[in-house]
Amino acid sequence: MMMTFDQLGLRPELVKATASQGYASPTPIQAQAIPAILDGRDVLGGAQTGTGKTAAFALPVLQKLNQEGRRSRRPRCLVLTPTRELAAQVGEFMKVYGKHLSLRSAVVFGGVNINPQINTLKRGVDILVATPGRLLDLAGQKMVDLSAVEIFILDEADRMLDMGFIHDIKRVLKLLPGKRQNLLFSATFSEDIKKLADKFLANPAMIEVARKNIAAEKVDQVVHPVGLKDKRVLLAKLIHDGNWQQALVFTRTKHGANRLAGYLEKNGIGAAAIHGNKSQAARTRALAEFKKGKVQILVATDIAARGLDIDRLPHVVNFDLPNVAEDYVHRIGRTGRAGCSGEAVSLVSADEQKLLRPIERLLGRKIDVEVVDGFAQNPADKNEETFVNFTRKGGRGKTGGFSSRSRSTGKRRNSPGEVRAAAG
Ligand code: AMP
Repeated sequence: MMMTFDQLGLRPELVKATASQGYASPTPIQAQAIPAILDGRDVLGGAQTGTGKTAAFALPVLQKLNQEGRRSRRPRCLVLTPTRELAAQVGEFMKVYGKHLSLRSAVVFGGVNINPQINTLKRGVDILVATPGRLLDLAGQKMVDLSAVEIFILDEADRMLDMGFIHDIKRVLKLLPGKRQNLLFSATFSEDIKKLADKFLANPAMIEVARKNIAAEKVDQVVHPVGLKDKRVLLAKLIHDGNWQQALVFTRTKHGANRLAGYLEKNGIGAAAIHGNKSQAARTRALAEFKKGKVQILVATDIAARGLDIDRLPHVVNFDLPNVAEDYVHRIGRTGRAGCSGEAVSLVSADEQKLLRPIERLLGRKIDVEVVDGFAQNPADKNEETFVNFTRKGGRGKTGGFSSRSRSTGKRRNSPGEVRAAAG
């Protein structure tokens, strides 16, 4: 019997939110952390992106704040993250999981105008997700009062220390009330992390999950090497040959998203682009048409795709690989949910190959490389050899040496295991 979210003691509004995200059952970190956090325990969690760690703390936190119901203008939960991308991501998940509750959450980070953040804080928030520098800035200006924090979460503590945030963390800790629940998540446990954990966790539940990635397990992933200029032609071919009805395609830039959507439209494929330069109304319209099936292909940048409430996509395409490995995991996390099979396709030009390594390290596995007939990397591209060497350790083989899949039949010549072995 598969465990369910309501067996973990979560209220129906939260269970409903996980169902609409397409989650069939809790991941190991969720199964262990949720009951401990609901119980009020401190937690020391060993987990990295891709294990479902965000929901592991977000769901019980939302439940606790909701049931205690005290409305204060001051934050009652503080999540510290090392980067603004992660802060935005956590903030979006708080909104997505909490959509049937009436708690308020906000995200603050540096590098952007502080005034809108001040205004949001003035209106009152229950959950504040922050990077350390901007938080201390706001606290220094007396724009945020952390004296009502009941739950403090340090996310990706190892990265925090790597980025030199230790003093900032200590400064933040001094602003918090003494009595509170503390959660610390980290992918690795160095001596420094242990020291930090000793400092502010009290008798924590120790939860460690294997280096295992849900995304990596449930999603059929493939890399197609292709010349930069041929990417869009290959994408159109994959859509046609595979008779794709719905796919989310990621590009790195807004401009790239527009151009690609235009190209697909011109080739008879219904497509729309969503990105930061589009009005909220235009984005909502594009999303609605995509959901209804009027538009087959939604082209999006990472930021625009955050928090998009779309479930169970059969195909996710990395038209460009993301610069940050975690973004890859979040992109492909949009397919293969709830037991549905999903496919994540990455179109990788020679200059992007260097981005594959950190992604594979995060996934804990190699991604299969398959050349689509007629679409090997552009021979005029001087970097082509590099790609071949990188994927086939031990030989400068021709691209034909890869497992190549005939797109018309969808059959693979090599099993993924064989390819992985060949790829080292
Ligand atoms: P995280 O490790 O929190 O960064 O989450 C990685 C990805 O896993 C996200 O795309 C989540 O939407 C997804 N996810 C989280 N929990 C589950 C679950 N129980 N089942 C399936 N996917 C999940």
